Amino acid sequence: MSGVSRRYGRTLALDNVSLTLGPGEILAVLGASGCGKSTLLRLIAGLDAPDGGEIAFGDRRVAGRGRNAPPASRGVGLMFQDYALFPHLTVLANVRFGLAHLRGADARDIARERLDQVGLAHRADSYPGTLSGGEAQRVALARALAPRPRVLLLDEPFSNLDAGTRERVRADTLAVLRRDGIGAILVTHDAAEAVACADRIVLMHRGRIVQSGSAEALYAAPATPFAARALGEIIEIPGRAVDGHVATPLGTLPRPDAVPEGAVKVCLRPEAIRLGPAGAGVPARILGRAFAGPRLRLDIAVAGLGAPLRLDLPPEAVPGEQVGIELLPGRAHVFPLPDGVQVLSDCN
Ligand code: ADP
Repeated sequence: MSGVSRRYGRTLALDNVSLTLGPGEILAVLGASGCGKSTLLRLIAGLDAPDGGEIAFGDRRVAGRGRNAPPASRGVGLMFQDYALFPHLTVLANVRFGLAHLRGADARDIARERLDQVGLAHRADSYPGTLSGGEAQRVALARALAPRPRVLLLDEPFSNLDAGTRERVRADTLAVLRRDGIGAILVTHDAAEAVACADRIVLMHRGRIVQSGSAEALYAAPATPFAARALGEIIEIPGRAVDGHVATPLGTLPRPDAVPEGAVKVCLRPEAIRLGPAGAGVPARILGRAFAGPRLRLDIAVAGLGAPLRLDLPPEAVPGEQVGIELLPGRAHVFPLPDGVQVLSDCN
């Protein structure tokens, strides 16, 4: 899709979004509630039409410039959190539903094969009301995949399942997609799910794509403080860029070329901070220790920081009451102000 926008009244749900899905690629669209993820899927599926921009499957334009191909002609499968099965039809009949264009025997064989793939062949004659949540979602998967879509669109499909079932159904779903080389777009607000499932993550905020890339790339090189927060824990501290370095209360970092002189926001991954004995690095004092399973949760006072620094560390890595702090530059990200401030206040 290129330059796609969708407005609902005064809300710009999608703002000039461009996105490409490679063959067999599994893409996660990650973002908070209301950022436009479902709108994106609905436009791709053909359940809604863009106000601007175009959507194409390969060379075939399906939406934009006056065209809006109906959902059934697009070759996409849908699996939604609340994509309910038809209660009055058996499991097998539910899976056959999308195969109405095939002869009875062919449709039945394909539906059985798809049910077998999700491990539910033995429930073919059951009714949906007798299935567990995980089984029902696996039937929904079989139904979505029965017509052999080229792309499967998944909208928070696992979020109604309990933790153990969620992992299993997710793994089953990914296994079927990988084996058959079916591309997928998975919408989720759960960063761990996006990291676990996707070849590539597209991070959205307020109808726009903030950044896209592999989980590793987004973690290691976030484009904004918002992106830094989205993919894992960060500690934010103030800093000042002067000449070739950035001075912070926790020590000095090299100044990235793109950062102008002046006030900056520094986002640190916890592993960017090394705690050593007093005398090594910036002096600091441990104010409190709390049990956190295999780790100790520390509150550490550092001159120049408004609030204590909170770190979780293995107990053996905690030297004593007076400590020294060192920064490891590779995991520290420096953002110029005021952009950093604006993005951060947006997502609070
Ligand atoms: P997400 O899936 O990320 O939670 P949505 O795509 O559902 O976000 O919604 C994006 C924005 O568009 C939200 O502000 C939402 O309130 C608005 N929106 C979505 N669908 C409609 C609609 N049919 N009518 C009016 N506003 C809508």
